[in-house]
Amino acid sequence: MQRDILVLNLEEQMERSADRQFDKSFADCTDKEAYYVLLDVTNELMRVAEPIVGEKKIYYISMEFLIGKLLSNNLINLRVYDKVNQILRKNGKKLADIEEYEPEPSLGNGGLGRLAACFLDSIATLKLPGEGIGLNYHYGLFKQVFEKNLQTAQKDQWQENKSWLEKTDTTFDVNFGDKKVTSRLYNLYVCGYDSGINKLRLFDIETVDEKLVKKGINFDKTKIEKNLTLFLYPDDSDEAGNLLRIYQEYFLVSNAAQLILHEMKERQYDLHKLYDHAVIQINDTHPTMIIPELIRILVEEKAFSMDDAIKVVSKTCAYTNHTILAEALETWPLAYLEKVVPQLVPYIKELDKRVRAKVKNKNVQIIDKDKKVHMAFIDIHYGFSVNGVAAIHTDILKNTELNDFYKLYPEKFNNKTNGITFRRWLLSCNHPLADLIADTIGDGYKKDATRLEDLLSHEKDEGFLDRLESIKQEKKKDLAAYIEKHEGVQIDPTSIYDIQVKRLHEYKRQQMNALYIIHKYLEIKNGKKPVRPLTFIFGAKAAPAYVIAKDIIHLLLCLQEIVNNDPDVSPYMKVVFVENYNVTYAEHLIPAADVSEQISLASKEASGTSNMKFMLNGAITLGTDDGANVEIHDLVGDDNIYIFGIDSDTVIKHYKKADYVSRKYYEKSPVIKEAVDFIVSKQCLKVGKKENLTRLYNELLNKDWFMTLIDLESYIEAKDRIFADYEDRNKWKHMMLVNIAKAGYFSSDRTIMEYNKDIWKLQRAD
Ligand code: PLP
Repeated sequence: MQRDILVLNLEEQMERSADRQFDKSFADCTDKEAYYVLLDVTNELMRVAEPIVGEKKIYYISMEFLIGKLLSNNLINLRVYDKVNQILRKNGKKLADIEEYEPEPSLGNGGLGRLAACFLDSIATLKLPGEGIGLNYHYGLFKQVFEKNLQTAQKDQWQENKSWLEKTDTTFDVNFGDKKVTSRLYNLYVCGYDSGINKLRLFDIETVDEKLVKKGINFDKTKIEKNLTLFLYPDDSDEAGNLLRIYQEYFLVSNAAQLILHEMKERQYDLHKLYDHAVIQINDTHPTMIIPELIRILVEEKAFSMDDAIKVVSKTCAYTNHTILAEALETWPLAYLEKVVPQLVPYIKELDKRVRAKVKNKNVQIIDKDKKVHMAFIDIHYGFSVNGVAAIHTDILKNTELNDFYKLYPEKFNNKTNGITFRRWLLSCNHPLADLIADTIGDGYKKDATRLEDLLSHEKDEGFLDRLESIKQEKKKDLAAYIEKHEGVQIDPTSIYDIQVKRLHEYKRQQMNALYIIHKYLEIKNGKKPVRPLTFIFGAKAAPAYVIAKDIIHLLLCLQEIVNNDPDVSPYMKVVFVENYNVTYAEHLIPAADVSEQISLASKEASGTSNMKFMLNGAITLGTDDGANVEIHDLVGDDNIYIFGIDSDTVIKHYKKADYVSRKYYEKSPVIKEAVDFIVSKQCLKVGKKENLTRLYNELLNKDWFMTLIDLESYIEAKDRIFADYEDRNKWKHMMLVNIAKAGYFSSDRTIMEYNKDIWKLQRAD
């Protein structure tokens, strides 16, 4: 009711807010001021919205929530987007201009954090009672700045006094082995689409000293009271960085445990039935310590026996695995845990002891012979569910990586293929496409994404297909303008946009794309011109301590300089590496893409989610049979996707036999040799640094752990084929249609319904 009145009087609310904040009329406000006005009235709308409540709640605990800007999305979900736009137009303003002033919260690295954000949107949309619990990093992930074709890292000043965050009175004491800190809880409203409100709970401490950050992102890592929530993922290449990470992880879970138990007490629930009222989804191993922490509290403060505490906690916690890369599976030296959280160590040892008493297999022990604690193993033994994030990923966990555990607990393993929220990744970032779909098949798809399949009956509807094509063209022009403004590079909107955006990692193989670009450059130099100009776009941050990843960025920036400045080549081909790729950039890039690069080494990408976003926006996938690409392939069929490269079984066999020798492929193929040699050619060394380029060249020739060279020729063939097929406009438009129509499966609403049916078992709050 209160909401309806507010909506009815929205314009008046905006005037009042403009007057209160800036002492002027809304029409006289600058775009920046208009942003604070909209922030104010939208926050008010959320404050009066219906909270989603129920007898049981999901607590989604994650070190990362990559939420992106919130204004547009909140307006859409509150169903006031059109009305606000009308008011803006009347006052001579545009939402797109206003949104430029909204800072993007920098609270995640990439896929895992963005997934958590999509899940919060779907949990609220499906009216499931749920909260995210995370940390409020002051500078979040670093801001990427390019200098002399190299990545540098700067602090990202995303926090402002006026924001979506609401400071609460809730504080908790958090005890570490050597010190105690006091936390402060901030709330962020999460509104579902045409539904109610949940919350994201972000914890912080008030003693953080931002002045600690000196040059770039360097700071004294030992002053925990001052640096605990300064950054996401401090540099983990040294001991102090690792310890800080453990302090952060325990800070998260201690706060989460206290918050959950406080809510249980307020609602007078019996803690012996904790699992009837709370389910804790552990997003990757980072929040694993919630398990021993809850057990500790139940035993030490709530008079539980150890057996009972373990039983109750095990029935409450579920674990999501996000990777099979060995280096990404957390193992902490017991000595580190003894320093940071000595109170947990007896419990971790007890959990380990119970495993040893039950199972002889040494591979499943929590504490190994080197006194390292395998965090994932705690989750698997003492949680009730273990899920992978795409069908092939879960199969690999069951049959290979976690096979010893699967044999122990087959009933715990399940797959939940990732999904994305269509509110952000279609309705908000691609209005013309969302409108075209609504005009064609009605609005129903906005709540039931599988309805997108109704588009298939329009496969011969030329009017529809032409509109699809012209929307893509419009989005490509928009992106060209955005890139010119932000990067100072001009691209041709009639060229093919081939886009690879994701974290920079060798397994994702941006280096293979770089080798194709070299190959194409040399072809053009030798007179073989493409039918239509090609634009290769990259966006990616490399972890500051990941040397080879930064070398790959260096190579791509060098190629950008060489290609774009070569008058023989630049009319036919351009390379753009956009700076500081983030959610906002993704929202501009993805609707404009023709080709979606998903070229990880088969078996290595757990799922991927950008692949789904590109597909939904009508880009065609060029990829390996890896992660969720496998399911995209199944859905769209061979004719609507370009798959290349060796399959995951072959990859796994190569690793097992240790028989992959990259130099063999280099020596056998003149095409590969020519491309790899270019990295250390005079031309490249003229614009790049010898140390970096030589290191990368040697890595490819002597190691190439992610098998770039084995797939390069098949990649070149598939990529040339997809570019040639682009010229068959009817075929291409049809492929776009099929991809959009089949994307419904990848709605995070479907994923969350599956989590709820199989794991959480919550009641909808209707
Ligand atoms: N980083 C950002 C900013 C994103 O928006 C996304 C997904 O859209 C990702 C990373 C994950 O990309 P991928 O699934 O390609 O690894």
